[in-house]
Amino acid sequence: MSGIDSVLKETRLFPPSDDFRVNANVSGIEGYNALCEKANNDYEGFWGDLAKSMLDWKKPFTKVLNSDNAPFYKWFEDGVMNVSYNCIDRHLETKANKVAIIFEADDGSVTRVTYRELYHRVCQFANGLKSLGVAKGDRVVIYMPHTIEAVVAMQACARIGAIHSVVFGGFSAGALRDRIQDAQAKIVITANETVRGGKATPLKSITDEALGLGGCESVSKVVVFQRTSTKPEHWNEERNIWWHKLVKDQADTCEPEWVEAEHPLFILYTSGSTGKPKGIQHSSAGYLLGTQVTMKWVFDYKETDVYWCTADVGWITGHSYIAYGPLGIGATQVVFEGVPTYPDASRFWQMIEKHEVTTFYTAPTAIRSLIKLGGDLPKQYDLSSLRLLGTVGEPINPEAWMWYYEVVGGSRCPIVDTWWQTETGCNMIAPLPGAVATKPGSCTLPIPGIMADIVDESGAQVDLGKGGFLVVSKPWPSMVRNIWGDSDRFKKTYFPEDYNGKLYLAGDSAHRDENGYIWIMGRIDDVLNVSGHRLGTMEIESALVANPLVAEAAVVGKPHEIKGESVVAYVVLKGARPEGEEAKRIAKELREWVAHEIGKIAQPDEIRFGDNLPKTRSGKIMRRLLRDIAKGLEITADTSTLENPAILEQLRQSAI
Ligand code: ATP
Ligand code: MG
Repeated sequence: MSGIDSVLKETRLFPPSDDFRVNANVSGIEGYNALCEKANNDYEGFWGDLAKSMLDWKKPFTKVLNSDNAPFYKWFEDGVMNVSYNCIDRHLETKANKVAIIFEADDGSVTRVTYRELYHRVCQFANGLKSLGVAKGDRVVIYMPHTIEAVVAMQACARIGAIHSVVFGGFSAGALRDRIQDAQAKIVITANETVRGGKATPLKSITDEALGLGGCESVSKVVVFQRTSTKPEHWNEERNIWWHKLVKDQADTCEPEWVEAEHPLFILYTSGSTGKPKGIQHSSAGYLLGTQVTMKWVFDYKETDVYWCTADVGWITGHSYIAYGPLGIGATQVVFEGVPTYPDASRFWQMIEKHEVTTFYTAPTAIRSLIKLGGDLPKQYDLSSLRLLGTVGEPINPEAWMWYYEVVGGSRCPIVDTWWQTETGCNMIAPLPGAVATKPGSCTLPIPGIMADIVDESGAQVDLGKGGFLVVSKPWPSMVRNIWGDSDRFKKTYFPEDYNGKLYLAGDSAHRDENGYIWIMGRIDDVLNVSGHRLGTMEIESALVANPLVAEAAVVGKPHEIKGESVVAYVVLKGARPEGEEAKRIAKELREWVAHEIGKIAQPDEIRFGDNLPKTRSGKIMRRLLRDIAKGLEITADTSTLENPAILEQLRQSAI
């Protein structure tokens, strides 16, 4: 395999305003460089100092990093602490009355919870869990609506040293059963139902169904939070207990379980974009440290911020940047139960105005769909409270970035395009917004202390401009500790023998441009091989999205006798899906457009139009399914995380 070719050229550069830079937590490129230099000169000292200053310890650590059993690294291992204490108790002295969570429900009703109130709720629920026999190290599955109680449940587990595994409230009974079984969970916490976009999903009934599928004998109790007045279909007196009854007579204080730094905080499954989801196991102290450092540096956290991350707690973004990061640093944050398109596509903009949000963090998939549904809508709202925008989850196409920057951010707010993974625990490559000028589509530079690199098959660094494999060459505190119950898969997937087990292999391809900025080019699994050129998916997709007609695009390779692979593009237009002659005409126009934008080599041989693309429930394009469709194959791969199965049939019929 040779390197990966880059064909996209993006030169627009957006430095922070003087005002932003001067007030930023890391100010100017000198500030960024100074931190990097410290990390380079004394790696353990760098992380050790941060762990001392940003976390509260019951018993301080004396050793920063233990690599004896690499790649099973240990950080701060003789230190003792508690994550929930760090997220709540330590703020009580100075900000007990500060609002921790502004919760907006699907129907628009708003509830505010202060740090003191959150403390009592977490303690009561923690005591409730203890009364059910949950102890340190026990696994608890949380299958909840995206509400304050979901955060309370997670924090309560952390408080008593139980290991949570949150399952997104949109997953099916089968996916839930697999996760319960994998974790051998003792307790499941759920709700009667969740309401999103006006539609109710009966979480309790799905839980019953999951348990009925068998293999869940480890579960002794199911705690049910009453989210709505709807009565659950069945009630098993032995197994079920209402949340409100469980907490009713519990004390509202609860001594934290002091745990060693490496104690597992949670298990969480990856999104399943490229294969069967992996149960990622995270630590306590190292994980929390990663979230704190990035809240401060990447999100430039200020005491006066109203921070809003739109992810669901079912994903890593909802763990690191809702349940733990913002609470750890003592922020006021918005938690939103609903969806961006209900009651209409202006919901996000309305809420930013209403809650005077300063920091807004969302996903490219949301941005693209909101452009499609109403590119002018943000202009009807007062978004002047915003000072910083962020994206995560997929590469953001430069044109979607420009819209976000201009229309949402008023050309005033830096955008932090944050590259990271379930496995990395925290942002890894992202601009520090007061220090690093941004470029649309690039996640720019690694966070200080993160040794990201781009290498070829032999592990040698590739030249600027050349694509290769994204790796991290040193362990970092918030890194994945294991795949739950599968150490072999952990080693093979992330620390392959090809690199002597020394490099963390992210699974993404990337290149650096002439400024040293990093561009994610797509998944290694999705790289196309066209006439001897290896192409990532991101650049061709971004060229398509740059066309004014196009809202979204996904490209995949299909075997071709002469070229090796031909390029097949699936395209969603901003307007209606074209058919017949019109489809042919637009396809021709788009093929010529791509040839003109980035070159003939990347020109799609075939274009298919759909109303949507197959996506994971976290909103990522599942190209592996599109590959099968392009080849005319039946889909046999794991589709347990697919959001919209109906789209597959439409795309199957979409050849023009
Ligand atoms: P699986 O590992 O099961 O295939 P997944 O990789 O989609 O699923 P996540 O951990 O949720 O699961 O996603 C991490 C991936 O998302 C990254 O490896 C990368 O491909 C993509 N990603 C996340 N943020 C960005 C970003 N800012 N720019 C480009 N890609 C991103
Ligand atoms: Mg992945």
